[in-house]
Formats: sequence, structure tokens, C-alpha cells
Amino acid sequence: MSGAAQQVVRDHDPRSVPLTEFFGACFDAGLSWVHFPEGQGGLGVPRGLQAVADAIFQAAGAPNPFSLNPIGYGMAAPTVQEHAQSDELKRAWLRPLATNEHIWCQLFSEPGAGSDLAGLATSAVRDGDDWVVNGQKVWTTLAHRARWALLLARTDPDVPKHQGLSYFVVDMHAPGVETRPLRQLTGQAEFNEVYLTDVRIPDAHRLGAAGAGWQVAMTTLMNERSSIGASGIRRGDGTIADAVALWAQRPDRHTPVLRDRLAQLWLRSEVQRLTAERARATASVRGPGPEGSIGKLVGAELNKQVYEFCMDLLGPEGLLYGDYTMRDVGETEPGPVQQRFLRSRANTIEGGTSEVLRNILGERILGLPGDLRADSGRPWREVPRG
Ligand SMILES: Cc1cc2nc3c(=O)[nH]c(=O)nc-3n(C[C@H](O)[C@H](O)[C@H](O)COP(=O)(O)OP(=O)(O)OC[C@H]3O[C@@H](n4cnc5c(N)ncnc54)[C@H](O)[C@@H]3O)c2cc1C
Repeated sequence: MSGAAQQVVRDHDPRSVPLTEFFGACFDAGLSWVHFPEGQGGLGVPRGLQAVADAIFQAAGAPNPFSLNPIGYGMAAPTVQEHAQSDELKRAWLRPLATNEHIWCQLFSEPGAGSDLAGLATSAVRDGDDWVVNGQKVWTTLAHRARWALLLARTDPDVPKHQGLSYFVVDMHAPGVETRPLRQLTGQAEFNEVYLTDVRIPDAHRLGAAGAGWQVAMTTLMNERSSIGASGIRRGDGTIADAVALWAQRPDRHTPVLRDRLAQLWLRSEVQRLTAERARATASVRGPGPEGSIGKLVGAELNKQVYEFCMDLLGPEGLLYGDYTMRDVGETEPGPVQQRFLRSRANTIEGGTSEVLRNILGERILGLPGDLRADSGRPWREVPRG
């Protein structure tokens, strides 16, 4: 494993060759996702060995591909690898995803379906060898740069909501796909509204059986939470590093109370990092499960508290947000700490809200009684919607 990774960095030094070449070499050597089969960016070895290759790539100066193509690497790759209809399609999608030539996005949420994702209304109707899709999606991260999208759509409105969904891969350049940016609190427009009008999708681009879209979506969502929850795994790295750096820069603002808060946040960050490590270890044996939600929940809440600390440390300067220019996710250096404070509010919403994650952990890990579900067993068509 380490020999193959060292060979890749020797032959394709990420500091000097184009990154598409470097990441293409990683794919061809089976080091993009080592647990995937050979020919699909992997070697068919345990997932835990990915860390060995990643450490060598990182030491050679390679960027983390997850930050360049987060939905592609974190969610689309495992979903496509597990559910696409043929090995040819898997390879055709996975290699340009791995090189980041094709950015991916996720067309799940709708104006009337976020936490209650299974209640979504975008329809896909079979027409010969194609499906014809109509509806509106929202909060679609990177849709403006995406070549492909993961789509969850309703194919049967006459059965209970979870049973009438199917899962597709959509060409974001297809006629009828319209993307409109949504500008955020931070000044960025990292996500979009996406309108789908008579968009044709070949049946070959369906993932999983018609009507089994919810099961495929679980592959995506478990990987999403695990990949968000497990990021920032080096000691002292991630969000807490921002707070420590700011503390070092601003001795004029030190107080014993703030010092105590920083120490507490550092300890909690370390506990969160170790918890994420544990979730990674579990996932490396049996794939991501509901434990991934622990890291996502705790990490998101902690991020907010770390940046609240940064604002308190800055005092009135925290109100100044000098650089309110539009930035594109993955293309620019992180913005000022004030911007990161504003962005951290989204952490507890994206990838499942903290409330919903607590429900999942309560039900699936702790075995507590389930959430109230008034629509259980009723055909989707008969469920009142706002
Ligand atoms: C930065 C960012 C990026 C995103 N990127 C994408 C993307 O790429 N693709 C995509 O499809 N979506 C994306 N989303 C959407 C995200 O998945 C949804 O916003 C999220 O699932 C919540 O849905 P909602 O916004 O409709 O809120 P709602 O579901 O309407 O929730 C509103 C409030 O009610 C609470 N609530 C809802 N149900 C329950 C319950 N059963 N128990 C307790 N409380 C409950 C929620 O916690 C929340 O506080 C993104 C969101 C953000 C913020």
C-alpha cells in the first residue's frame, strides 16, 4: 500500500504536475478509495488502509480531494460504486470524479422536503427507455459547477412515501436543468435552486431498483454524515486550530475567563476527534452506520461554539466583515474568521439538522421510542403537504 502510494508521488509529484494527472494516477493505482474493486479506483482491501495512502499524498503536498469535490468524493462515489447498473458505468463516472474534472452535486432537498426527505414531490415518470423528471430542488451545493447530480425523485405517488422513490444520476448539462444561485449570509453562493423541467434520464442511469430509491439514499446519507463527521482528524487541527491561532495573535484581548473557555473547547475538540476516529474505525470494518451521526452532531455544535469564542475574543472587531466578496466553495482560501463564524451556523443544518440527528441516535443507537409519524402507511398522494 505505502509502496504504491510512494510510487504515485514519485512519478506524478502533486506539487509539479496538474492535479488531474496526480488524482488520475491515484485512481489508476487503486488508491482513490482503496476498498473499491480494482478498475474502479480501489484495490479491494480494507477501507482503513486508505489513511496510509492519504498520509503519503498529504506529506507530498497533495490537497485533500474531498475539499475539491466534496459531494463527489464523500457521497457520489460510494453510492455509484455500490448501485450503478454496470461496471462500465461505474468506471465512466468514477474516474473523472476522482480527477475532479467532474464535480458532483446532490439533488435531494426541496422547498417542502428537507428533514422529511422521503416526502419529496419531484416526479419521474417512465417514458420508453427514459424517465421524465419535473420538480424543484433547493440548497444544492455546487450545482453551478456540477457535471453530474444524484437525484431522488418520486416514481409512485400511490404507495407510502418511502416506497415510491427512485434514485437517478442526472446530467446537469441536459436540456431542462436550470440552476439559480442562492446568496448566503456569508456573501458566498455555494448552493443553488435547481429547476427540472421535462428532463430526460436514461433508465440505465437509475441506481437500484425502481421504488428502492430510499435504500440507495441511505448509502448516500450515511456516507455524508460519516464524511462530514470524520473530517479534521489530526490532533489540534480543524476549527479549533483557528481559535488557537487567533488567541496567539491577540494577546491584548486575553482574559482568564477566555483562556479557560479556550482550554475547554480544545479538550472537547480532542474528544470529538477521537470519537470521529472511532466511527472511522467502525466504518472501516462494516461501512458507515448511524454512529457517523455522532461526529456530525457533536462537530457541528462544537464548530459554532469555537467561532462564538473567536467573536468574543475579537470583541467589537467581530462585527467587522471587511471582505464581503463572492467566493466559490473549494476555489479560494478560507475567508476571515468573521465569515467562518457566519458559515458555522450552517453546520447544524447541512447533512441533517442537529435535531434530526438526535432523533436518529435516540432511535437507532439508544433504542428510545420513535418520533411521531402521522403519515405512516398512508399513500404519499393522501398525505397533506404545506
Ligand atoms: C450549507 C448547506 C448546504 C446544503 N447542501 C445541500 C445539498 O447539496 N443537497 C441537498 O439536497 N440539500 C442540501 N442542504 C439542505 C439540507 O439538507 C436541509 O436544509 C436540511 O435537511 C433541513 O431541511 P430544511 O431546510 O427543509 O428544514 P426543515 O426540515 O423544514 O426543518 C426546520 C426545523 O425543524 C426541525 N425539525 C424538522 N423535523 C424535525 C423532527 N422530526 N424532530 C425535531 N425537529 C425537527 C429542524 O431541525 C429545523 O430546525 C444544504 C443545507 C445547507 C445549510
